[in-house]
Amino acid sequence: MSEGTEAGKGFARWWQRPAIVPLARIFVVLVCLTLVATDGWLIWKAREVQLRKAEIETSNLASALARQASDSMKKADTVLLDLVERLEVDGVEPRQRQRLQALMRQHVYEQAELHGLFAYDRDGNWVVNSFGEVPLGANNADREYFIYHREHPYDHGAHIGLPVRSRISGDWIIPLSRRLEDAEGNFAGVALATLSIDFFRQFYATFDVRRNGSINLSLNNGTILVRNPFREDLIGTSLARGHIFTDLLPEGPAGTTIMPSVVDGVERMFSYRQVQNYPLVVITALAKEDILADWREDTIRQLTVVGALAVLLALFGFYLLHLIKQGQKTEVELTATRDALRSFNRRLEQQALEDELTRLANRRRFVHALNDEYARAMRTQRPLALVMFDVDYFKQYNDIYGHSAGDECLRAVAELLRAGQRRPADLAVRYGGEEFCLLLPETDAQGALQVAEQIRLALENLGLTHAGSPWRRLSVSAGVNVCLPQPLGVAVNGPEGLVQGADKALYAAKAAGRDRVMLYDERIDQLIG
Ligand code: GH3
Ligand code: MG
Ligand code: MG
Repeated sequence: MSEGTEAGKGFARWWQRPAIVPLARIFVVLVCLTLVATDGWLIWKAREVQLRKAEIETSNLASALARQASDSMKKADTVLLDLVERLEVDGVEPRQRQRLQALMRQHVYEQAELHGLFAYDRDGNWVVNSFGEVPLGANNADREYFIYHREHPYDHGAHIGLPVRSRISGDWIIPLSRRLEDAEGNFAGVALATLSIDFFRQFYATFDVRRNGSINLSLNNGTILVRNPFREDLIGTSLARGHIFTDLLPEGPAGTTIMPSVVDGVERMFSYRQVQNYPLVVITALAKEDILADWREDTIRQLTVVGALAVLLALFGFYLLHLIKQGQKTEVELTATRDALRSFNRRLEQQALEDELTRLANRRRFVHALNDEYARAMRTQRPLALVMFDVDYFKQYNDIYGHSAGDECLRAVAELLRAGQRRPADLAVRYGGEEFCLLLPETDAQGALQVAEQIRLALENLGLTHAGSPWRRLSVSAGVNVCLPQPLGVAVNGPEGLVQGADKALYAAKAAGRDRVMLYDERIDQLIG
């Protein structure tokens, strides 16, 4: 029970501490910041996940397309090898030529990526081809691949040339060629398989690279063979200056990078991969904007919700703070009111125990003090003295000088009595009208008489004029009574007895001529009796 109360007080003190408001403010700000920071971190993580996914997507696609490019080349090259063998061994007699031409057409018919098959003699003249017709005066000695084979006698491998428009069909083609030799090993012409760029274009178009992605098949030197989205003007142009060809490919056959495109400046994630066995590179790319499009939408939605939440939290937090502050203010006001009430009550209590005119203890207080001191005197067996004063001829004073002058006089007498209180327990009292008394605990008759006489003398010395007095000055008479209270059961007069005795002694002093102090004893009783 008492613990609970203590805890309650502790909480109240803590609550009242001025630090609670700044602490709560810091707390609210911290909570909001943590919310925003956590969300920011999650958003950043989500962005990384998107980029990682895109990296996997583009590199997987690059890997698959590199394989496809390699397979297409391999198939065309196999046909080409067969063709070289036939041309070199069987020659191109008209009969052979017809058979060859039928075979070529068959191959082209069966392989979708094959656009055509051709054979040229050592001067570049058309010998036989899969189309079955020879354009008039056609000569391919000017083609890059023709010049290459003529001038590279030791290269018996397949050569992929620069993309060109077919002289027979007008289509864009990739030339795959091999050198032909006669029995002596001299240059005898070129066998050529052309791959349809349109085939690759259509194939690449089946992959979803979103709005701004691209797929690219290039030669090792950066020359573009196919690009999706298709742009004819880009065929044969070079990417050699791009970061991938200058820096990345020399370091490894595959990888991923993010950079602005050499072609159109769009920032993309590029995955590149060297095609196995052929001097080709596949590059797949997704635009960064496309990769992050969903993430951006989610982020905006999330930021809106979290932002609104943070704002609400802040508003609510600061509203609570406001309430705390108001609570504190109310507490302070209540405390002030309580303190004011307490001091007011103290004043009231004081007033209830104090005489208004002289500020001495009033009769009420005297009664309490008398009872207390009487009881204490009984316990300690120490004497208790009481002196009663009465101003002499005061009725006349009022009559001569007026009531308010009389009041002034009473104040002057009261000050003398106040000065007569020597010890903390001494109590000067306005008993009523022009009667005062002085309660003196632990004081014997001699001491009390001395104090009373001192006060009488002090008034005499003050010399306040009183025309109605035989001495022409204001005077007091005093009666002193002292008792040593006896335990109950023994003869007891009680506090009242002490007062009555002092009163009787005062009466005796009056009777004896006034302006004097008298001590009560039995003779006075007999005298009065
Ligand atoms: P005695 O010498 O026998 O005491 O004569 P006395 O005139 O003093 O007689 P008494 O004690 O009967 O008179 C009291 C007078 O004191 C009555 C009243 O006019 C006056 N008095 C009582 N209270 C006050 C007071 O508060 N102010 C003033 N100015 N006078 C008071
Ligand atoms: Mg009187
Ligand atoms: Mg009097």
